[in-house]
Amino acid sequence: MEGKPNEAPAIGIDLGTTYSCVAVSNNGGIEIIPNELGYRTTPSTVAFLDAERLIGDGAKNQVAMNPANTIFDAKRLIGRKFSDPKVQENTKLWPFRVIEGPADTPKIVVSYKGQEKEFLAEEISSMILGKMKEIAEAYLGKVVKNAVITVPAYFNDSQRQATKDAGTIAGLNVIRMINEPTAAAIAYGLDNKSDFIGKINVLIFDLGGGTFDVSLSTIEEGGIFEVKAVSGDTHLGGEDFDNRMVDHCVSEFKRKWNKDLTGNQRALGRLRFACEKAKRILSSTTQTSIELDCLHDGIDFSMRFTRAKFEELNMSLFSQCIQTVDQCLKDAKIKKSWVDEIILVGGSTRIPKVQDMLRELFDWKELCKNVNPDEAVAYGAAVMAAKLSGSNDEGVRDVLLVDVTPLSLGIEVKGEVFSIVVPRNTQIPTKKFKNYYTCEDNQSRIVMKVYQGERIKSTKNHLLGKFTVSGIPLAPKGVMPVEDCFYIDADGILTVTSKILSTGMSNKLTITNEKGRLSKDDIEKMVREAEMYKLEDQEYKKKVKAYNDLEDCIYNLRKKVKEYNVNKRVHPDSLKKMETAIDETTEWLEDNQAATINELQRKKVFLEFVCTPLI
Ligand code: AMP
Repeated sequence: MEGKPNEAPAIGIDLGTTYSCVAVSNNGGIEIIPNELGYRTTPSTVAFLDAERLIGDGAKNQVAMNPANTIFDAKRLIGRKFSDPKVQENTKLWPFRVIEGPADTPKIVVSYKGQEKEFLAEEISSMILGKMKEIAEAYLGKVVKNAVITVPAYFNDSQRQATKDAGTIAGLNVIRMINEPTAAAIAYGLDNKSDFIGKINVLIFDLGGGTFDVSLSTIEEGGIFEVKAVSGDTHLGGEDFDNRMVDHCVSEFKRKWNKDLTGNQRALGRLRFACEKAKRILSSTTQTSIELDCLHDGIDFSMRFTRAKFEELNMSLFSQCIQTVDQCLKDAKIKKSWVDEIILVGGSTRIPKVQDMLRELFDWKELCKNVNPDEAVAYGAAVMAAKLSGSNDEGVRDVLLVDVTPLSLGIEVKGEVFSIVVPRNTQIPTKKFKNYYTCEDNQSRIVMKVYQGERIKSTKNHLLGKFTVSGIPLAPKGVMPVEDCFYIDADGILTVTSKILSTGMSNKLTITNEKGRLSKDDIEKMVREAEMYKLEDQEYKKKVKAYNDLEDCIYNLRKKVKEYNVNKRVHPDSLKKMETAIDETTEWLEDNQAATINELQRKKVFLEFVCTPLI
């Protein structure tokens, strides 16, 4: 498949909780694309200010000054309900406001250009994806349309759908969504293909900023990647370690000064920033300190933090990670000793205790650090993007990916029992059928409630949606079969169809708002809004440029007037006129901060015209 001349090749985006990364297949190799500052990863942060919107490093760098309007962690909200206990837990710690929107959807509230605005997590994620698209476009000099986006393997259907919607809102055609650890396995497999023969078992341990995934895959020499099992927690990562440090500092502050700083959003924002930094330092040294001047009520905060304390605070979370690895091995039916490579992905795998505990589990086997933990996922996504675009590059051409669904899918039957149709770790794409029967005499309709999860009681799982099958011919209970078909596509997204076998009538799962899914109209509206925000950003940049150009012009002309005054090369009257024009323009600029681009440019043209002899 050849792209249009001005269209860039498909890109791979790792949309991370804390950082995102974009890569592309170029001249037979994979390139990680640096952002405008030259960094290979970009903070997944969006900030709203009085005059502009910032995304990436610019947003992260101003967080301490503007904590209530600087949004991070959107990935922790995406596809979740407001009432979800994990969302509730996080909102307490975030310095920005999250409210309950329609159908229990969380909405982020910010002040933007002096007005209160509400955004869905999909919209914030779309802004980050839009930024990654822009980074790629600036680098490639072409328009980017197609992308492969990665998601945590343990994301459920709602979270996947919402991420895909975010891609659409950003103006991307999401050609495939792949699981993050699978992408990392591809990166490992392609980079190390000369180092193994036959088939090897690799365990990917992916601990990032907000999510944790483990996957067990086999890689075959020719480039066949088969995922055997995945396990994880979509709400566990570096930010949780930061939170525990923040909590600890808050109690220390309380103990020492008898003051509670939890209501002080600015202080919490500064503390979080300092804790994250200290955490990183503690990965290479055994102690550090946190020093914050005037943290709360004029009190300076200073505290020594040891690696031992950090480990003690987070031990239960680290143990949770190790138990998850055990579970994944069990699901894959693979013994520890059969694992050939343990690959570390995600920034939080740099924590020495995590590495030690993992090595201990595998009887002190060496961990593989051949892949870059921050870039492997985007690398693998770019390989898939090239492959799906029909690339003939060696290595990419032969890649074959067989992934699995992370959680069981099924419907609720009598007594709130979860009846599984597709067991977890089934290879995808897949289509599974199961027959259900009426449970009352003359029952003409059945409400199909589709759930995802591993609990026997249906309501303990995640409700994906419900729909009604009506028009069942009247008959004694247990006679009329309704056939449910669960189809999971290559993106891991589900469609359910129910068919009354005796009449052939069928119903499809219509994704309702209850599921938190956006309608086509909602998405179209958001696409238009995203475009509008982008235009506003561009307009703002242009305005700043016009303003700066006029200021530079005034500065340069003033300098020249002084020089000409000294060497008398222009008649004093003319110089006086020019000086007056310069003064008037300076004054005008001070009084007209809200001037339009056009006005600014016109002023500059006029001033240059008056001062032509100087130019
Ligand atoms: P990722 O989502 O893979 O980009 O991982 C980002 C997470 O890794 C953040 O929570 C970072 O604080 C964390 N991280 C990055 N470097 C280190 C380090 N040296 N030690 C501990 N955590 C780190």
